[in-house]
Amino acid sequence: MARITDLLKTGRTFSFEFFPPRNDEEQARLTRTISDLQPLQPDFVSVTYRGGRSSRERTTRVVIDILGSTRITPMPHLTCVAHPRFELGEIIGGFRAAGLENLLALGGDPLPDEESYQELAYAEELVGLARMLGFESIAVAAHPAGHPKSPDRQTDRKHLAAKLQAADFAITQFFFHVEEWQRLVDELAALGIDKPVIPGIMPITNLASIQRMAQLSGYAVPADVIAQLEKGGDDPQAVRRIGIELACALCSDLLEAGVPGLHFYTLNFSTATREIYSGLGLVTA
Ligand code: FAD
Repeated sequence: MARITDLLKTGRTFSFEFFPPRNDEEQARLTRTISDLQPLQPDFVSVTYRGGRSSRERTTRVVIDILGSTRITPMPHLTCVAHPRFELGEIIGGFRAAGLENLLALGGDPLPDEESYQELAYAEELVGLARMLGFESIAVAAHPAGHPKSPDRQTDRKHLAAKLQAADFAITQFFFHVEEWQRLVDELAALGIDKPVIPGIMPITNLASIQRMAQLSGYAVPADVIAQLEKGGDDPQAVRRIGIELACALCSDLLEAGVPGLHFYTLNFSTATREIYSGLGLVTA
């Protein structure tokens, strides 16, 4: 299986993020989405991890399925939440034993009380554990605006630089202007870090849902982006079309700026990603 860190040395990567299905209906949708996106030949796909026992089973099942039934390279996410160190070690060992070569190591967000336990405090410690257990291709999360819990962007960049020193590459939280990626990369370079930072792309297909998601991740959707989307008025199709156009423009700017790859948050749907590929001329759809 490909190591993403090796792929990044040879050129740009294109990748998708999925979340593990919670029921049969979501499973059917994910299966359809993977099948629809396979012709785009992603360099890798990543699978989120909410935390706790059920997440362990669900994420593991999806990555093993992808590994066994497609030629796509899957990368599981793993968070520090709701597992003691030894259990995180077991999970990482299980991923290695299954033949997985890539891991996205995360701090994670708190779960409800009964699963709020956290022995490792930060993603950086999880990177160290995964490295010790044999992973040679380890990704981490980067937050272009700074993590919402950080006192300021400078402090966040300092922690991110230390985390990236230990890891191999980063994937960002979603954002809407190329300048945000450029500023992140420049500020890391000033701290001596030049590892690849892959922008995460969230196509807006619905204004209310992106605002909800932005709120959850502690990031405000910029006013100019909202103003553009509001031009679609009450017509959901018009709003969606504007959202896809904005995502195409952002991807185009990012590619021109020399990004090492593009990572699409698919929410387990394929249409928006396929439309952006088509808009960018990446495939003749
Ligand atoms: P960390 O790197 O641990 O940072 C968390 C906070 O602590 C930051 O404010 C940081 O500046 C600070 N910090 C870091 N190190 C130190 C230190 N040594 N001392 C003091 N402060 C420090 N969440 C999920 O639950 N599941 C997922 O699958 C998932 N996938 C994601 C994928 C991507 C690409 C991204 C960008 C985010 C994802 N998230 C996911 C969300 C993520 O878990 C949250 O943003 C979480 O709050 C922080 O995770 P992190 O890995 O950035 O944390």
